[in-house]
Amino acid sequence: MQIREFQQLIDKMYSERDRQRGPAKTFIWFAEEFGELARAIARRKHDEMEGEFADVFAWLVTLANVEGIDLEAAIQKFTTGCPGCRQMVCVCAAKMD
Ligand SMILES: [Mg+2]
Ligand SMILES: [Zn+2]
Repeated sequence: MQIREFQQLIDKMYSERDRQRGPAKTFIWFAEEFGELARAIARRKHDEMEGEFADVFAWLVTLANVEGIDLEAAIQKFTTGCPGCRQMVCVCAAKMD
């Protein structure tokens, strides 16, 4: 499935309710899922992590829908290299912690 197809699927499933709720409250739901992902990573449970990655991604896509952002178009800036250094293999100063 392409990112655009997934965004359309999520839009159909959730966006009417999410637009009613609004971006600020929708972001709080996204943040909650973000926390669940952090907990799953800390617990080192692969199945849990998989589920939470999906939840975080779905809520990110929902937020993009609420704000009218086309994610497939938005990520194009990465297809020509790192947005920081323009290289296909990033040579920006390492962000190790
Ligand atoms: Mg979750
Ligand atoms: Zn870079």
